[in-house]
Amino acid sequence: MSACDDVRLALTLGSTLDRTLAAHLAGCDVCRVAAPAARALSAALAADATPLPPPGLSARVLRAAAVPLAAHARRVARPDWWTVGRAVAVALLPLPLVVWFDALLVRGAYRVLTLVLPDALGLYLVGSYAVVLALLLSLTYAAVPLLAARQTPGGAHV
Ligand SMILES: [Zn+2]
Repeated sequence: MSACDDVRLALTLGSTLDRTLAAHLAGCDVCRVAAPAARALSAALAADATPLPPPGLSARVLRAAAVPLAAHARRVARPDWWTVGRAVAVALLPLPLVVWFDALLVRGAYRVLTLVLPDALGLYLVGSYAVVLALLLSLTYAAVPLLAARQTPGGAHV
């Protein structure tokens, strides 16, 4: 920030100017012109009171959230194991194909990398990539039962 920015920021925030900023304000025509507007803005901001929330807002929010919260509590307390099992089974169907494709991809990347890099570096890069792929795959499959348990039977009723 320039010295002009520092002066205008200090004036807008209503803080007192230190010796350097006061000297700049005294010597800079641009800042001297902008100073009254910055001081007026600071005064207007300081005079504005924080609005209070309307009375009863908390009660209305809790009343509006009661139905979705109750539905969520029911789903968490009694998950539909049939839905969870079906979702996991469907998610596992393409897993061999995904693993096979990833293995092909990693092997191909290793071959290409070892053409231009030392073998150890290529193995390190491909190994790191394989670890990332395994992590992403694990996270994806770990999320399937959680997402299936959160499904609302028959669509969204909330
Ligand atoms: Zn200035």
